Amino acid sequence: MPPAPPRPPPEGPLAGPSPARADAAGGPAGALARAARDLARLVVPLECAGCGQVDVALCTPCLARLTGPVWRCEAAAPRLDRVGRAPLPVWTLAPYTGEVRELVVAWKDRGRVDLTPVLTAALAGAGGQVAAVLRAAGLPGAAGSLQVVPAPSSAVARRRRGADLVGALAVGVARGCTEAGLPARAAAVLVQRRGAHDQVGLTARARRTNLRGRVRWRRGVPLPPPGHPVLLVDDVLTTGATLATCDDAVRAAGARVVAAITLAATPPPGHGRVEDVRRQGYGGANAG
Ligand SMILES: [Zn+2]
Repeated sequence: MPPAPPRPPPEGPLAGPSPARADAAGGPAGALARAARDLARLVVPLECAGCGQVDVALCTPCLARLTGPVWRCEAAAPRLDRVGRAPLPVWTLAPYTGEVRELVVAWKDRGRVDLTPVLTAALAGAGGQVAAVLRAAGLPGAAGSLQVVPAPSSAVARRRRGADLVGALAVGVARGCTEAGLPARAAAVLVQRRGAHDQVGLTARARRTNLRGRVRWRRGVPLPPPGHPVLLVDDVLTTGATLATCDDAVRAAGARVVAAITLAATPPPGHGRVEDVRRQGYGGANAG
């Protein structure tokens, strides 16, 4: 068997630096920057996660859908309306439709984690608005601070996404509340029990079954003082099953959920225009 022929020198964009070629392209640094840019476009074409506009991660009109006034959306969530309990007030930033739905799906399930800082900032804005309402209601009172708790993701979802995305939103909410004069801190104190599956793709009934009793206080984390106020955070309000299950777990730990904030909320059937929803909320429960 003859010896293998010598390997040719590397060629193409992944080759090592070649002074002659780099100089011809305007200096090594310039060439590298251009290559990195071209490679980035090749691998991840930069486009708005909401509407697909090219060369921008999130365009101004899509961002504006997440930076307006918050409104109440709990009336559209059938699983939150439980016999014998006052409905949990839930504030949200946007109807889960159109561009907002696109960008949330891109963020959660298509690897667009580059959106996390901007979504966290949007939730900080929401937190600041809700803080004003909670302060008017006398919170945090003797508790001294509000605990901001993200709805827990399943271990499968966290692994797939490589991060606790809802946890990042909770950090934003806590920052917004604190900056608005309501001391708050985020803490991922709830976890899903083993056996709870990722909620993606489940029907409303399956979500209910999947989550019932499956959320609990995290082991090793001290229980809160009795009645300590908790603000829940989730990405999207759908049926309300997730928030209701988190509410149960917080109550079982002795604290009380005073409200919840979500990035977006699924509209009820036949909802009106976005402008009307923002003014009236889902079911006319808007706190203004
Ligand atoms: Zn856009």
